[in-house]
Amino acid sequence: MSRYLSRPLEPYVPGEQPGGGLLKLNTNESPFPPSPHAIAYAADSARRAELYPDPECKALAAAMSKSLGVKPENLVFADGSDSILNYAFAAYCTGRRPVFADLTYGFYKTLSGFYGADAQIIRLNDDFTVDVDAFADADGVIFLPNPNAPTGLALPLSDIERIAASRDRIVIVDEAYVDFGTESAVGLIGKYKNLIVTRTFSKSRSLAGARLGFAVADAELIADINAVKYSLDPYCVTSHAMAAGLGSLADTDYFDACRERIIDARAYTVDALRGLGFYVTNSAANFVFAKSCAVSGGELYRALRERGILVRHFGGRAEDFVRITVGKKSDMKRLISEIERILP
Ligand code: PMP
Repeated sequence: MSRYLSRPLEPYVPGEQPGGGLLKLNTNESPFPPSPHAIAYAADSARRAELYPDPECKALAAAMSKSLGVKPENLVFADGSDSILNYAFAAYCTGRRPVFADLTYGFYKTLSGFYGADAQIIRLNDDFTVDVDAFADADGVIFLPNPNAPTGLALPLSDIERIAASRDRIVIVDEAYVDFGTESAVGLIGKYKNLIVTRTFSKSRSLAGARLGFAVADAELIADINAVKYSLDPYCVTSHAMAAGLGSLADTDYFDACRERIIDARAYTVDALRGLGFYVTNSAANFVFAKSCAVSGGELYRALRERGILVRHFGGRAEDFVRITVGKKSDMKRLISEIERILP
């Protein structure tokens, strides 16, 4: 970084995006292509690329509001849920402490550093479950992924409700992985005016490259997030992303088929890893979080990489673990047979 940079920055380190040749099980993308409808709608939208996109994303908001049973004014879209999280930080975390777990999505820490916010970190319990009492007691702005990453563990809605009801402060439930088997908190936004649910098209809808995410909340909170969005990047959602999102929403059968296949491949992977003596959390996401007693997390990461499979290895409390994205069942069979060869 140059000497002109006005303050030191610690940017987020995204998972590797290698050129090809490796089986990518490291950034929780879908192994399936986008719905053919999404591809066709996006291609069609390219014909009108001379125009700016609709900053209100009206067509998408109308379709999503029907799908979720909320009003369009309860929705705001951005180029990925990371952008929504960024806008929420800008809206609520100047002068208020963000609150999140010690083992959770790394972007919250990055954003805290970026905004100079002094985060309150709550330790997960020894079994990696969320300390719900500690979150319920915390002031500040709560960031809680459900299910959590990288553990994959989900909280029941009653716990989310307890945290939302306990104090008058913003609670952001990050539902990036909700479609793989967790109950959504979207139905609670009418009851809790302090609750924001963030969602993404990146995982269950196979559109990580299109960049499309959104928040669902009471209209006043949506107005806050829109105020930041319109201050920074009103056109952040491209026409192509919007069109792809609309196409995806129109193809419920494809969406259901893909997530069922991932849930099935997850069950296979968890069973197979446990059969090989791994400790594996009960993941409700499209990844598994696993630890072997025979090889360290770092060794397993390196050995798999040498064999052409990319998984994710983190430090700190996750040091012994690897996080493995659930791909197609055939991918997971290849992973398991490589692990069998690696284990002593
Ligand atoms: N939240 C969590 C918990 C995530 O793991 C991710 C993906 N890295 C995101 C949000 C952001 O997803 P996107 O910006 O692609 O919507």
